[in-house]
Amino acid sequence: MEIFDVAIVGGGPAGSSCAAFCALAGLRTLVLERERFPREKVCGDCLNPSCWPVLECLGLTKRVWDLQHSKLTSVEFVAIDGHKVIVPLPSGDDCELSIKRSLFDELLLRRARELGAQVRGETTVTAVAHEEAWKIVTASGETFRARILIGADGRNSTVARLRNLLPRPARKRVALQAHIPLPLNFGARIVLQFLQEGYSGQAPVNETELNLCLVGRPSTISRLRQWAQRQFEIPTDQPWRTITPLTRASVPCAHENLLFIGDAARVVEPFTGEGIYYALRSGELASGAIAKIISGKDRQLALREFARASAEMYWGRLWINRLARAAVLSPRIGSLFVRAARINPSILKLLTMKIVRSSPVG
Ligand SMILES: Cc1cc2nc3c(=O)[nH]c(=O)nc-3n(C[C@H](O)[C@H](O)[C@H](O)COP(=O)(O)OP(=O)(O)OC[C@H]3O[C@@H](n4cnc5c(N)ncnc54)[C@H](O)[C@@H]3O)c2cc1C
Repeated sequence: MEIFDVAIVGGGPAGSSCAAFCALAGLRTLVLERERFPREKVCGDCLNPSCWPVLECLGLTKRVWDLQHSKLTSVEFVAIDGHKVIVPLPSGDDCELSIKRSLFDELLLRRARELGAQVRGETTVTAVAHEEAWKIVTASGETFRARILIGADGRNSTVARLRNLLPRPARKRVALQAHIPLPLNFGARIVLQFLQEGYSGQAPVNETELNLCLVGRPSTISRLRQWAQRQFEIPTDQPWRTITPLTRASVPCAHENLLFIGDAARVVEPFTGEGIYYALRSGELASGAIAKIISGKDRQLALREFARASAEMYWGRLWINRLARAAVLSPRIGSLFVRAARINPSILKLLTMKIVRSSPVG
């Protein structure tokens, strides 16, 4: 049986990025993805400008622009009482786009395949065991073997669960998401709106559709949905995608022959709209470590360097995450923040720029 250098569980942005970089490095790469692509996902669909350098390395910049998208020009923060603060977004090459995940994720996975990765869709991993190499078993009973295993299978990572590494979800919140008809004159803005019951994120994804996200607690989510039905004149039978948990403790990302990337390693507060960037970049970082290990370089050093680079990726940003989480766990505090920012707009401007600034890749 063929032994792959690396088997990646999950073909979202983290898994596809890792697979594409591994294939570029000449590694025998396998991706096992549960879903049949293209598929939508619970996400705000906003591509943080930090993603551009990674996409450029994968030769994808033009192809991302060619996908149906909206170029976003501002973020509008709305307090519970309706007070607003508008912060402009970068307008040049480092601008923020929104793209449906069905389009974006499929492009990334296709790129991994073009570069030489073997991709198996509709393949759910159900068991992993480390013998001389990893043995990976799927729901249909197929078996694959690989020297290194990557958990890129999202916030409810099966790989982490099978290895007894999956932490309990922190605090129960739930998200709903739908694409609905774009309201007239909505404009090219992201709206982040605090509500009594939680918050809502809104962004156009093309000329006809709006991405609408609702985040609340299980006890408040149906009231949020009713708010959205009134606000956007959505029919009561509107189908919603759902996801939980919203946050949880991180999984250590570097183990002997086993790495975790993207949401599988660390889930960030959706409000900041940075998850796709962390997924892409951690995939790239992991590929560097895998290439070193496979070529016989010092394994422990490669793992330590990967863990340090992963931690550095979040440094300077996690405080924003904590702030965002405090604001969204208590929409009243978030609203006070928006009101304070009306008096001194530089507060929110600084925070927004901190989140959407481009990060150097290297
Ligand atoms: C409400 C909400 C709004 C958000 N908005 C934004 C935003 O606007 N911008 C942003 O950057 N981020 C946003 N995020 C975060 C972003 O969606 C995630 O960070 C991102 O999807 C992580 O990518 P990933 O590849 O790590 O995981 P995922 O995208 O979750 O991909 C994991 C893949 O693994 C597959 N998989 C799972 N289990 C198995 C298995 N057992 N076998 C095989 N395959 C498996 C899944 O099918 C999936 O395709 C938001 C999140 C939420 C909840």
